[in-house]
Amino acid sequence: MGDSAARLDAIGKRCAAAAAACGRAVSEISLVAVSKTFGPEEILPVLEAGHRVFGENRVQEAQGKWPQLRERYPDLELHMIGPLQSNKAADAVALFDVIETVDREKIAATLAAEMARQGKSPRLLVQVNTGAEPQKAGVLPAETRTFVELCREKYGLKIEGLMCIPPFDENPGPHFALLRKLAAELGLGILSMGMSADFETAIELGATHVRVGSAIFGSR
Ligand SMILES: *Cc1c(COP(=O)(O)O)cnc(C)c1O
Repeated sequence: MGDSAARLDAIGKRCAAAAAACGRAVSEISLVAVSKTFGPEEILPVLEAGHRVFGENRVQEAQGKWPQLRERYPDLELHMIGPLQSNKAADAVALFDVIETVDREKIAATLAAEMARQGKSPRLLVQVNTGAEPQKAGVLPAETRTFVELCREKYGLKIEGLMCIPPFDENPGPHFALLRKLAAELGLGILSMGMSADFETAIELGATHVRVGSAIFGSR
């Protein structure tokens, strides 16, 4: 077993322990292996170990490696977890199974048009900027309801959940709790939150998807 496959296994066990500790079934939690900056030689051992759910943060980088890997592993589930530009929306719809970073009207409009044109419907999450950081993508917490309703009503997009990346230097717990509260108020079932440093806290606070990169693939 390669190093990355061994680390994946260890992370899987930590997810199971975190779920058990708060009385959740580990089957409710999906581990998104974030493979950004890593190539097929690092990704293949994880695929060979049976893992199928991966995250990438750049459309162009993902296009360079995943179409070939998907030919060998057609049951992949690829998540777009990085900021999305509208000129990359067509490529994102073509490649990804889940787009976690819907966060403004222009992207919602472009995604809706591309989904209709390509006859594809990736699952969609709205990114929330829980820390209201000026440099960070995502809708503000207070604007989440209006934006989800706009996606739904004006563009016919089915938003299934919320995603956040808490401020780097803050305790993530309150941000995860806020995301859970917003999702509950909107009746949304998917919560993508928690990374290598804090996925156990995220599981305790209701994450259905944790996005773990460096703890599986090594430092970037
Ligand atoms: C890189 C990245 C991750 C994974 O971060 P690690 O700390 O390496 O686990 C998770 N989410 C997003 C949005 C990322 O860009």
